[in-house]
Amino acid sequence: MSNGRPGNAVPTSEDAQIGAKWQPRRWTVWSHPRPVVVYILLVEAMALAPVAITARLTPITPKSLLWLGLLMVGVVIHKEASCAIERIREIDREGSPHTNLQSIWFFAAILMLPLPLAAAVVAFSYGYAWLRVYQRRPPLHRKVFSAATIVLATGTAQLALSLTAAPGRRFAAPAISTLTGPIALPVIVAAGLLYWLINYALVVAILIMTHPGNPGSKALGDPTEQVLIGAGVCLGYGIALVADIRPWMLPIMLGLVLGLHVGLLVPHYQRAARTDAKTGLASVSFWYAQAERELARAAGTDTTLGILMIDLDRFKDINDLYGHLCGDAVLNAVAGAMKDAVRSYDLVGRLGGEEFGALIPGATSETILATAERLRSAIKRAVVRSTANNGATVTIGNLTASIGAAVFPASARTVTGLSQAADAALYFAKENGRDQAHLAPVTGAGAQA
Ligand code: GH3
Ligand code: MG
Ligand code: MG
Repeated sequence: MSNGRPGNAVPTSEDAQIGAKWQPRRWTVWSHPRPVVVYILLVEAMALAPVAITARLTPITPKSLLWLGLLMVGVVIHKEASCAIERIREIDREGSPHTNLQSIWFFAAILMLPLPLAAAVVAFSYGYAWLRVYQRRPPLHRKVFSAATIVLATGTAQLALSLTAAPGRRFAAPAISTLTGPIALPVIVAAGLLYWLINYALVVAILIMTHPGNPGSKALGDPTEQVLIGAGVCLGYGIALVADIRPWMLPIMLGLVLGLHVGLLVPHYQRAARTDAKTGLASVSFWYAQAERELARAAGTDTTLGILMIDLDRFKDINDLYGHLCGDAVLNAVAGAMKDAVRSYDLVGRLGGEEFGALIPGATSETILATAERLRSAIKRAVVRSTANNGATVTIGNLTASIGAAVFPASARTVTGLSQAADAALYFAKENGRDQAHLAPVTGAGAQA
């Protein structure tokens, strides 16, 4: 029913996807509507053109090659330190701008390198992340597009910086060594703002085009995430400055970046990755990870674990009748009602659009349906007031859900087995007329999933 469940992976199709990456005709980029493809190609061409033009005009000195190497080393160390958490964040941010602290290296490159080499840092960083962090899973064209938006933002910021240099000296030396005096501050702030704005606008535009059903706020993303870009710009300036005047102190800057990342951002990201942004329930990845832990605990202590799969009935009708925002308000209200209806150590998660899962430690095949009924009546009692597409205030209530239940060890012995058994019971509830809960067949304590 939902994506992303353990056991749902189909290795053959994934292999096929990886194979398709090397065949231009099969690239997934072509599956977008024509205006989206045109937009993507336009942004990429606009990024490539200034790089190609300046490649012949700007002198590449041994010093700039050394700085290029240093920034690449910084990128590699930073990426390696943030691999695991970045994978989760990328999945979690689907449909919203994805930000991280990599702007540190990009903004340092803006200040230290000519455009072609700064673009090389961007390409290297995205290529390295695609191979190492995301392990070639996301479509390559997405990363190429993201890199193109950064290169465009980089070129624009460098252009702004160059306007303050004497006409004959433009692009002759890196901005970090020519920007001095009090004027440097507003110029760098303006370049940082331009860098952020160009990248943000280009990314939000593609998100709106490729996710037309999502509310605009989703495409704009969480404003606090954008603050990270500001932090990246400031730290990037710090790195460029240190590289220019005390290059041997660069490890201290790297220590600062890694210290902030591991000490502040990783715990923050971990909390964020555990939560579904729309409903505040457990996210799908955290819910399944917790299911594995609860199952291991139940197996180790010879106790039981119940799981419920809950799917709202005819939810599409609510979207169709009142609009997506009303649908979202319903999801929120249902999530709150379910959370209140279970014990503090039960865990309700959002597994997909209008599908939820509940982990009920200690539940048996005798007790699990009582919990399912409690959830069903809590959902039915939930009342949502929201504004419909036509501007009218609507009150939505009497919502129903179908629920499938399975219990460890009676129904299955693995999380995958339990999910499948509960899904099958849920399917049965739907087929049988909806608005009801069913327990998966009890195959005995020795059941094998
Ligand atoms: P059934 O009783 O068979 O489950 O019918 P249904 O309409 O609930 O099921 P279906 O799977 O056909 O439709 C689910 C709908 O949920 C389709 C999709 O538009 C909507 N949906 C998925 N995620 C979200 C979301 O985040 N917000 C809103 N508003 N709607 C969503
Ligand atoms: Mg569904
Ligand atoms: Mg449904």
